[in-house]
Amino acid sequence: AIVEYARGLPNVVCVEENLFTCSQDTQDKMVELIREQGLNRIVVAACTPRTHEPLFQETIRNAGLNPYLFEMANIRNQCTWVHSHDRKEATEKSKDLVRMAVARTSLLEPIPDLRVDINKSALVIGGGVAGMNAALCLAQQGFTSTIVEKSSVLGGAVRDIERTRTGIDLQKYLSEMTQKVMEHPHIRLMLNADVVGASGFVGNFESQIAVDNKIETVEHGVVIIATGGKAIHTDEYLYGQSPRVGRWHELERNVERFKNIKNVVFIQCVGSRDDERPYCSRICCTTSVSQAISLKDRYPDVDVYILYRDMRTFGDRELLYREAREKGVIFIRYTLD
Ligand code: SF4
Repeated sequence: AIVEYARGLPNVVCVEENLFTCSQDTQDKMVELIREQGLNRIVVAACTPRTHEPLFQETIRNAGLNPYLFEMANIRNQCTWVHSHDRKEATEKSKDLVRMAVARTSLLEPIPDLRVDINKSALVIGGGVAGMNAALCLAQQGFTSTIVEKSSVLGGAVRDIERTRTGIDLQKYLSEMTQKVMEHPHIRLMLNADVVGASGFVGNFESQIAVDNKIETVEHGVVIIATGGKAIHTDEYLYGQSPRVGRWHELERNVERFKNIKNVVFIQCVGSRDDERPYCSRICCTTSVSQAISLKDRYPDVDVYILYRDMRTFGDRELLYREAREKGVIFIRYTLD
């Protein structure tokens, strides 16, 4: 019925019905028909353009038509699926959708592909490990970049961390990386700098950087945002009120202070996985377990407790959890209530 209806619409000269319009056979047939009959606009009434439009555009391009002289009427997802209980009405709606697609297609104009010059350099916002790695990676491929760092030094959060859970010396890693960044001729560094404005479009951006009380404009084609993350400010569990309560990255470089302490308690998920911040940070369980192990290694007589909601030491980090238990760290589960 829809095919018959389409035949009677203005500007329609050819209508075909196929079982699978997206099959290779049908694509070949479509190219043939376009060439034989000199068709100049195509409508496919079938499924969703989201998945299939590029395929049909390629087909009509192969037949010599501009790919934008094409339209899909989505009579599947937007009609037969949602009205499957009412075939009659669904058929009428399909006719409407086809008629609208044909009307629109009659007005389509070919769109030429444009070539735009792009600026092949990057602006990297943030001079921590992620930003430096990004800039070095681009530099090794021959692209220039400008790192904008708001503080006076490179390194970001990693400056406060001694080692990774696998034992990599992060301060050594950081100083080697910083050296490479500072010496690389393709990397420009702007310290004590802030991005205060940005305009342009993909491939051609202009950003205004405030540095030394002056505004400088940097031109770049891409931007990499590597501004890092930071711990929340909390006043829970006496944090900020007692010198005995600290956050993990504050404790990391002060392990000595635990020498004469009898009990150490880690509290997990502070300010996380609640109504305000429902997500899991994915690093704190592993960090607490690693720190608990190093405390036990240094001061075996210290009692270490970890209060947790779910222990998210995922993947091979599970081995750290096992090691912590073997070394006598005590895990106690609590609920948010
Ligand atoms: Fe952090 Fe563990 Fe809580 Fe996730 S489950 S937010 S990793 S403490």
